[in-house]
Amino acid sequence: MNGNIPPLTRRGLFGVGAGVAAAVGGVACGTAEENTRPARQLTGIRLRWWGNNSWEIRISAPGGDRTVLIDPWLTRFRTGTYTPAGADPTTPLSVDTALIDHYVDSGELRADHILVTHGHYDHITDVPYLAQRTGATVIGTESHLNLLIALGAPQDQLSVASGGEYIDCGSHRIRVLRSLHSQLGPRARIPFPGTRPAAPPPRPRTIADLVEGGTLAYQIESPGGSVLNLGGSNYIESELTTLRPDVLLLPVGGSNVHDYVPRLLHALGNPPHILPTHWDDFDLPLSRPAKDTGGLAPLRKAVTAASPSSAFVVVDHLQTYPA
Ligand SMILES: [Zn+2]
Repeated sequence: MNGNIPPLTRRGLFGVGAGVAAAVGGVACGTAEENTRPARQLTGIRLRWWGNNSWEIRISAPGGDRTVLIDPWLTRFRTGTYTPAGADPTTPLSVDTALIDHYVDSGELRADHILVTHGHYDHITDVPYLAQRTGATVIGTESHLNLLIALGAPQDQLSVASGGEYIDCGSHRIRVLRSLHSQLGPRARIPFPGTRPAAPPPRPRTIADLVEGGTLAYQIESPGGSVLNLGGSNYIESELTTLRPDVLLLPVGGSNVHDYVPRLLHALGNPPHILPTHWDDFDLPLSRPAKDTGGLAPLRKAVTAASPSSAFVVVDHLQTYPA
């Protein structure tokens, strides 16, 4: 099911901003042209991709850099998610504490905030241990936080959100947005659906125990640039129409969502920097180059058609943007 994508190289990864140059010569579609925003240079804000939907956003501040992590998941145990049989729901949960310790102890990975988009295994399994190691404040829905408590997260570091919060962190702001999970298959279903309100459930043991628990999106705003991350390949359009992020972290997929890419980019005023997310086979370790599960080419095509002026930039595991 994977597309025939040539091997990723650093040169290739960063050489895909041709859409910006193409737009200078004129855009055929008047709507797109009217909606085009000049790309501003990102300053004092840098992204790093830790695979799947795991993003580190580092913001320069007078008192020292501040770091926001979104859905950090380094462990990446084997689940079968991208095989024809799909994810095995009995897959046990595990956390590679040695791997996490390696990055935290070296100072390479820090966090002031950890933002959770939803409760699935590829989004929250590492969060309790990372919260414990970094002391970060963790934001998520009531269900996400109950699942995290059940996994052993430090309770005094958890901050519940429902969407609509606008948190002032001094050097930057975190805007929490109501959002929607990807809908998969012919019935447009959410995998491992459900919520865990009121009280923590018994300790989750398998990936099926980590239910979606609602989905949030986040916009991180700093003086030098803003970044919007969607929790899955879906969104609530009315939540987004006043936002003008410089960088959109855009999940692959969305085939069950009407006009997934064009409607989204129009609502956001055609973000100048678009980085695909959630596009790699996470059964493979972070130490290897990301393996495309087949979503990159269609996403690039949809973005180029809907917003020719946007730079569609693919970064590989552990690479940064801007480089
Ligand atoms: Zn999910």
